[in-house]
Amino acid sequence: MIIPKSTKKYMVKTPGGRTVEHFKKERPSHAFCRVCGAKLNRPKINVKKFKNLPKTKKRPQRPFPDLCSRCMREHFKDKVR
Ligand SMILES: [Zn+2]
Repeated sequence: MIIPKSTKKYMVKTPGGRTVEHFKKERPSHAFCRVCGAKLNRPKINVKKFKNLPKTKKRPQRPFPDLCSRCMREHFKDKVR
């Protein structure tokens, strides 16, 4: 079993009196807007499953997918001005 370095560890005392190390499973997190920090409407799944998804399901079909729609509009206005 290969445990990634980022995995959180915690100690558990067993009924036998030993103290053993357990590993927390990494939970997938939301994607957030780069400017305002709002949650983006993306699938909340881990990296392994994300790889198998089609590209259209990973990000919106518009420019600046790392921004929320509101910030994208503001970004365009700033560009034009
Ligand atoms: Zn935003």
